[in-house]
Amino acid sequence: MTIKKEQIIPNGWFSRFEFIKGVAAFDQLPDDIGAEVAFSGRSNVGKSSALNKITNRRSLARTSKSPGRTRELNYFAYDESTHIVDLPGYGYAKVDETMRNAWAKILERYLRERSSLKGVFLIMDIRHPMGKFDQIMLDYCKSCDLPLHVLLNKSDKLSKSAANKTTTDISRALADINGSVQQFSALKGVGLDEARQKLADWLFLT
Ligand code: GDP
Repeated sequence: MTIKKEQIIPNGWFSRFEFIKGVAAFDQLPDDIGAEVAFSGRSNVGKSSALNKITNRRSLARTSKSPGRTRELNYFAYDESTHIVDLPGYGYAKVDETMRNAWAKILERYLRERSSLKGVFLIMDIRHPMGKFDQIMLDYCKSCDLPLHVLLNKSDKLSKSAANKTTTDISRALADINGSVQQFSALKGVGLDEARQKLADWLFLT
């Protein structure tokens, strides 16, 4: 008998995530078992909004923005071995260069060494895609052979043809890495099923 995808992915799985901890140093990471997916993106692209939409919560990701948590890897648990990890929003103005470099090191080490990390969601603003830090994240994923899924958020702000053009451009830019791209709108719910499907594939089926 073949087992269908729907039989493995639990019903309503996406609304069961809870914040468990913020991690400021590598040795504080939870045990490297099971599956986790990281969410990354420059500040203000709508990373928190996307995370809240996908997990069906109004303010799950607000935790990541509370004072003291903006520089942490914030862990949201489905169960003890299934996590979403909200990575620090890079590009924040108030952090000085030294701090940024220190962060880049932790982030790079996390991406390179974390065995349970199944893939990275990279959120971009569809109107301003592929900034400097998006490129850095792409390069990390490429060099670590990590699957990457790009959410082109705020697609409600562009016409269909402009949104499609950007999607094609990004898809070309991802051609030589293990990557995929889709349009998304945290505001309107565009692309929600597709994003959840990708996340579920990584969390439950890999
Ligand atoms: P973060 O800094 O990346 O976590 O971004 P936020 O989730 O805080 O969102 C930044 C701003 O973008 C807020 O004013 C949101 O209301 C707005 N925003 C987020 N997603 C969307 C979207 O899909 N469409 C539109 N029009 N605005 C959005």
